[in-house]
Amino acid sequence: MSRKALIAANWKMYKTPAEARAFVDAFLPLVAGHTRDEIALFPSPVLLPTVVPACKGSNVAVGAQNIHFAEEGAYTGETSIGQLKAVGGTHTLIGHSERRQYCAETDEIVNKKLHVALKHGIVPVVCIGEVLAEREAGKTASVLKTQLNGGFAEITPDVAAPIVIAYEPVWAIGTGKTATPEIAQDAHKTIRCEVAKLLGANVAATMRILYGGSVKPDNVTALMAQEDIDGALVGGASLKPDSFTAIVKY
Ligand code: PEP
Repeated sequence: MSRKALIAANWKMYKTPAEARAFVDAFLPLVAGHTRDEIALFPSPVLLPTVVPACKGSNVAVGAQNIHFAEEGAYTGETSIGQLKAVGGTHTLIGHSERRQYCAETDEIVNKKLHVALKHGIVPVVCIGEVLAEREAGKTASVLKTQLNGGFAEITPDVAAPIVIAYEPVWAIGTGKTATPEIAQDAHKTIRCEVAKLLGANVAATMRILYGGSVKPDNVTALMAQEDIDGALVGGASLKPDSFTAIVKY
């Protein structure tokens, strides 16, 4: 089953509008005509009105790092799905481990956000992954299954096609410790099997599962060679056009 890879940049809380614009101006010519993979940038919300128009008409999609599950309301500091759509964003991360860790985002909240993204035609990239203590206790598979069961509650196969999963072992994010290709493949296989149980074999066979956690130009090729790895979610190494281009063109 061939799945078109998605190579995505999570810029976290970095870059001013001028720096974001300079990145896009340098990056688009470097990846022009690259059709093998989909490419997406996930900047902070304040950068979207700069980055979305700058990428218009290119092969680079732009999304949010987070959206709220309510369509609108008194949620100070949050961004709604309607606001994301109005500025032209097409994707959103959901449940990144930094939001789970610092903003108390639970599987229940992830699930509500997933429902609102699908309802509004925004491509959701649902992030899951175990912390080091869970891996060391041999609980990786059960953690991933719990996150998938909670995050995908009441999601039916007929609406699931746009969903992308990002497997990001928390111990590998921003630490320089990448999961070996074998460790990553093992987790991705577990995830695909669980998706098959939840949503059926057809959905599981086509769902893209990205790997994230210290992906760099020198380790991306071995990761992408794994059967169940369908792309990468890249933090630190996505901040410079040259390094992110090297990852995109692995
Ligand atoms: C991330 O932010 O999702 C991530 C994987 O970061 P890094 O590549 O820096 O580990």
